[in-house]
Amino acid sequence: MEDHLNVKGHCHVCREEMTTIHTEVAGLDVFVCEKCLESAKQNFIWICVSCGSVYIRPKALVLKRLRDPRLKEAYRQCEDLQIIQGIEHCIECAPEKIVEYVAAAKSEKCGGHC
Ligand SMILES: [Zn+2]
Ligand SMILES: [Zn+2]
Repeated sequence: MEDHLNVKGHCHVCREEMTTIHTEVAGLDVFVCEKCLESAKQNFIWICVSCGSVYIRPKALVLKRLRDPRLKEAYRQCEDLQIIQGIEHCIECAPEKIVEYVAAAKSEKCGGHC
């Protein structure tokens, strides 16, 4: 997460606010405003790199619905992080894959760090 004072863009998540904060999501440069960054504390945010759709789901709800204990654990570890995750396909492209991507992204990112 970097702050570039001279570069401004529309927040990719809400598409309303202008912001200088941007982050890399699955190789894409994505702008995120403070408001959406704040909401990332309470919600999982996914961006589909295929069509650009943004999905926001309350973390508590996602955790409650998960049945697989391994996946649940992976999500639980993300619970306190403000993360925006890139997915190759969104719910419309591949609904059954969305959970797997998050788990995969998690082990990729945190391998050895936490
Ligand atoms: Zn925003
Ligand atoms: Zn998509």
